[in-house]
Amino acid sequence: MSETNKLHVKKGDTVVILSGKDKGKQGRVLRVFPDANKLLVEHVMMVRKHVKANPPRVKGGIAEQESRIALSNVMVVCSSCNRPVRIGHDTKGDQSVRICRRCGNDLDSNKKK
Ligand SMILES: [Zn+2]
Repeated sequence: MSETNKLHVKKGDTVVILSGKDKGKQGRVLRVFPDANKLLVEHVMMVRKHVKANPPRVKGGIAEQESRIALSNVMVVCSSCNRPVRIGHDTKGDQSVRICRRCGNDLDSNKKK
């Protein structure tokens, strides 16, 4: 079992931000960086980046981009409770699944890919 499976957040989850300027915002997880304990959330922690022109593919200018935030600064939103919840881990057969501690919803099996 890799460390990745123990994380409470996965790509595609909806999370709520717990701190920083985007506190209270909800967004979809774009990417998780397990080694750094960080993640990217859509439209959260946007930063302006100056982009160097690299024709013909890249236009120069200012682009807005998500920046990484700590995993501990987000909570997963349960699709069944529709609110941020604590996540527990359970095993179903030989699979590790994440369980909503509030309603018991299996967050991995019920998710549409
Ligand atoms: Zn729930």
